[in-house]
Amino acid sequence: MTLLDTHAHLDHTDDAPAQLREAAEAGVCAVIAAGVDLAANKIHLKLAKEWKMPKIFLAFGIHPGNIITPQIEPTLQFIREHRSEAVAIGEIGLDYWYPMVKKSDERKKQQCEVLQAQLDLAKEFDLPVIIHSRGAWRECFDMVKASGMTRAVFHWYSGPLDVLQDILASGYLVSATPALFYSPQLQEAMKFAPIEQTMIETDTPVVYRLSEEKSFKAGPKDVFFTLDVYAKLKSLDKKKAADVLNANAKKFFNLPL
Ligand SMILES: [Zn+2]
Repeated sequence: MTLLDTHAHLDHTDDAPAQLREAAEAGVCAVIAAGVDLAANKIHLKLAKEWKMPKIFLAFGIHPGNIITPQIEPTLQFIREHRSEAVAIGEIGLDYWYPMVKKSDERKKQQCEVLQAQLDLAKEFDLPVIIHSRGAWRECFDMVKASGMTRAVFHWYSGPLDVLQDILASGYLVSATPALFYSPQLQEAMKFAPIEQTMIETDTPVVYRLSEEKSFKAGPKDVFFTLDVYAKLKSLDKKKAADVLNANAKKFFNLPL
């Protein structure tokens, strides 16, 4: 069985080669590398050129937690220059949970401006977007929708169900990480969303705490763990679920696989 990891951060260069080798051995055929800032976007671009299996596809973006004012314009410029190498714009979005953002209207406004600039690029380039949304679920959805995006995935969606309903009614997707093992919010969202509008991922290198004693730092191979948990939660045959989830990813990112 092969799987695609639809969301990983491989800019931690010390770990990336070992993680990618393990992923290839486990049966991961492709990874979507999501950029969070200028340095990460550049590292991913280099990795994608070097690495054959798993194949690395590129999403370029500025994460709402990584907005550094002098870097915004150069990063947007980098994305423009490398448009033809990208399959998506991401990881982009809004996150009002960060302590320095929570109480600052100025910082919220800045997140919205940077998100809007990247939605405009995605629209211009006809690319899908990978959305990070936390503590601003409705605001973030409204911005994506108002931008006229036809392809968006709300990654690791753990927000309210009324927003999820609107996400799904708009034809957008959601994705599950290994946190599906323990997160009631993510479980609720994944039970609610049809498999046809779902993708699976790892958000490598996040550390997942499965219990008091057991935790692991994710690599792309752990997309198989996400599949296990997802198939159980949905009472689906694993192979059949994998076929649908892979097809969703290929279609969403328009991958030449
Ligand atoms: Zn991420």
